[in-house]
Amino acid sequence: MGSSAVSRIETVDRSAPSIADEVAAIARKELAPLAAEIDSGAIYPDELLRRLGGVGAWRSHLPENGAADLRCAIQSIAALGEVCGATAFMAWCQNTLVWYAANSDNPRLVEKFARSFADGQVLGGTGLSNPMKSLFGIEKLKLKGRKVEGGYVVRGALPWVSNLGRGHFFGSIFEREDAPGETVMFLADCSDPAITLQPCKPFLAMDGTGTYGVQFRDAFVRDDLILADPAGPFVKKIRAGFILLQAGMALGLIKDCISIMDEVDGPLGHVNRYLPQQPVQFKELCSELERETMALARDPFNPGETYWRKVVALRLRAGDASVAAAHAAMLHCGARGYLMSHRAQRRLREAYFVAIVTPATKQLRKMLAED
Ligand SMILES: Cc1cc2nc3c(=O)[nH]c(=O)nc-3n(C[C@H](O)[C@H](O)[C@H](O)COP(=O)(O)OP(=O)(O)OC[C@H]3O[C@@H](n4cnc5c(N)ncnc54)[C@H](O)[C@@H]3O)c2cc1C
Repeated sequence: MGSSAVSRIETVDRSAPSIADEVAAIARKELAPLAAEIDSGAIYPDELLRRLGGVGAWRSHLPENGAADLRCAIQSIAALGEVCGATAFMAWCQNTLVWYAANSDNPRLVEKFARSFADGQVLGGTGLSNPMKSLFGIEKLKLKGRKVEGGYVVRGALPWVSNLGRGHFFGSIFEREDAPGETVMFLADCSDPAITLQPCKPFLAMDGTGTYGVQFRDAFVRDDLILADPAGPFVKKIRAGFILLQAGMALGLIKDCISIMDEVDGPLGHVNRYLPQQPVQFKELCSELERETMALARDPFNPGETYWRKVVALRLRAGDASVAAAHAAMLHCGARGYLMSHRAQRRLREAYFVAIVTPATKQLRKMLAED
């Protein structure tokens, strides 16, 4: 290992706890009072997301000298997820957008966007669900593009993209109409009049996440918005990071479900002890998942097939564990958790999202079955 790589890791090790600690403090003081309104869709917390960018929440995973460390980003997402699953998801969206821009080989794109995404001045997300499903033979690509002077013209629609609004950007992939089978990854600019955001019908949870259906009506995508052409090798490079960052959503949610179970132990422990799943088991499971996540998160560019399968398997376990922990929290709470005002029912609704957001449980199982 060269001396620059050593100093990079040392720098990350020193700074990682302080960013995650600052994020945790903001989560407790500023996010907690907003969680119910975010959950109901009354607010989309763009100011809070920018403020988190100000303390470095979206920049700790920036690659340096060909390596990257996702541990601090995952810990920060988990800290937000302990308080609000929707905000943890928006944090994943923003971190993923940063991940795309920082890994692009297009110098004009990097110069124009990498810093403003990482600082949170510009917000956004990722429209990669459909491409990720398409890569594994689940559905066809929904966006089509054709080469023109200075860029591509893109048409089609994506049913859901989150952390969006005016002035926001997101990464996605289209298939070339003029070169069938070839794909290009690009940034979509939500301020482009040829790109329209359509509000979605209310969801079970995640309504405050700025989620829209997005239509491209022959939108011109300039060369400086191209993340990777062709997209294939780039997707291979960013895919482990895309998935590993989602572990933060699961870890935060599971930790809060454990707290919920602990909170009712005083009044209800005498009968809750007959339930098959106890907080101590989830504490062990959570520590195990956290350990595995942190080990994989140190090496997101690892090209090995064994590494990739470990990432996919971990993601599957994280989704399963989220649903199991939220289910157990509901059973431990009893009638208390059945009140709409109690967060146990919110955690249950959020847990299902961890299990269905791409790559969903069924896709992960397909990937592991076929690899
Ligand atoms: C709140 C929310 C936020 C999301 N944010 C993002 C995001 O930021 N970026 C992103 O890329 N993806 C996003 N998604 C999509 C998500 O990642 C998954 O792709 C989605 O939950 C479905 O995944 P699945 O594998 O279970 O597919 P399935 O649900 O099994 O299948 C998906 C297919 O079914 C079709 N379909 C879905 N609903 C209906 C319906 N009501 N009627 C008819 N057809 C339907 C879709 O067009 C799609 O082709 C979001 C989804 C939700 C619910």
